[in-house]
Amino acid sequence: MRARISNPLATVRNIGILAHVDAGKTTVTERMLYLAGATHKRGEVHDGTTVTDFDQQERERGITIFAAAVSCDWDGHRVNLIDTPGHVDFSDEVERSLRVLDGAIAVFDGVAGVEPQSEAVWRRADRYGVPRVAFVNKLDRAGADLDAAVESIRRRLHPAPLVVQLPIGREDGFTGVVDLLAMRALVWDGTGGYASVPVPDDLLDEARRRRRRLEESVSELHAGALEEFCAEPSVSEATLLAALRDLTRTGEAVVVLCGSAYRDRGVEPLLDAVVRYLPSPLDVPAVRGQGGEVRPADPDAPAAALAFKVSATATGRLTYVRVYSGTLRKGDTMLDAGTGRTERIGRILRVQADRHTEVERAFAGDIVALVGPKAARTGTTLCAPGAPVLLEPPGATEPVVSVA
Ligand code: GDP
Repeated sequence: MRARISNPLATVRNIGILAHVDAGKTTVTERMLYLAGATHKRGEVHDGTTVTDFDQQERERGITIFAAAVSCDWDGHRVNLIDTPGHVDFSDEVERSLRVLDGAIAVFDGVAGVEPQSEAVWRRADRYGVPRVAFVNKLDRAGADLDAAVESIRRRLHPAPLVVQLPIGREDGFTGVVDLLAMRALVWDGTGGYASVPVPDDLLDEARRRRRRLEESVSELHAGALEEFCAEPSVSEATLLAALRDLTRTGEAVVVLCGSAYRDRGVEPLLDAVVRYLPSPLDVPAVRGQGGEVRPADPDAPAAALAFKVSATATGRLTYVRVYSGTLRKGDTMLDAGTGRTERIGRILRVQADRHTEVERAFAGDIVALVGPKAARTGTTLCAPGAPVLLEPPGATEPVVSVA
């Protein structure tokens, strides 16, 4: 008898990183890709070698202008990172990329806390119902203050930030975090190493207090989720985690992590949080066409995909799509539901920062780039010719972007 295998879509995370310009989104993305092994060298923003900002204009200006979708693997999951521009002038593109996300990381500067653009992009994510986790970055900087940053999140963005870590040390002396769920300390040793050790004695009382506060906040928000709460001296890690996952996915709470992209492996807990708390394509409502047709995240359903970025590259014209339902196969003919024209899928590419991997098929939930479509634009729906569906109203298009 064949073992029952779970739906592989459950291990996909389509996420974006939202931030005020300069909060560290590019650096955090770089470190995540580096840790997940998708890149073999570390990019540095200041020397223009980051892999997500591969456009020359971005290198020169040092800001992320054009969305790029990058895949990496973490803990048995495929994480598709859809880059969302932070610069206020490019907010239309932020909007486009939000459309195809299932979840997001909001990065904040540990000194500045919530800044005007973080607020603007947060409101947009609210509009699209995108579940988020927050990452308070740059805790190594002089003046960084996690509690103040969390307070600014509570005041300006969300009434229920739930902090799941306690920083160890401040500013220059910031050396790690206490994971309040596992009640373990993760300490960076400065040589790329990382140790999981018992909570240092001098932080034990504070960590217990914060863990207790976290449990209380969770049980207030999620009545019944912590049944153990009364029976046990402390709620188990698994129970707390499951409750936090529910609260994140319904948007009732925002899990807050902290750290520094400058510390070796400093964003590793963030990758864990993406997998733990943010939803898979199966956990979000099925997409609907303009006529109300439901397209489930099912590889056997009729194919429907939405183009969210088109760029001209050395590899050819790349149409980045989010596949919402069905399966796209190399060689398939698809219908452009807006124009009635057909488009052929010549190749399907999974984009991994600095390289492309060719695949034969892409399934519901996937983010891939297609080579072959000639006229598809941002906002174009590509679908099975026998089952037309329009995922976005026609007319919302923008020029093809050239990438050197
Ligand atoms: P983005 O505009 O949000 O993409 O931000 P960048 O990743 O380009 O970072 C802005 C600046 O902050 C750059 O000079 C980074 O090197 C710096 N930076 C990023 N993360 C950290 C951090 O954790 N600590 C410190 N001290 N600086 C950081």
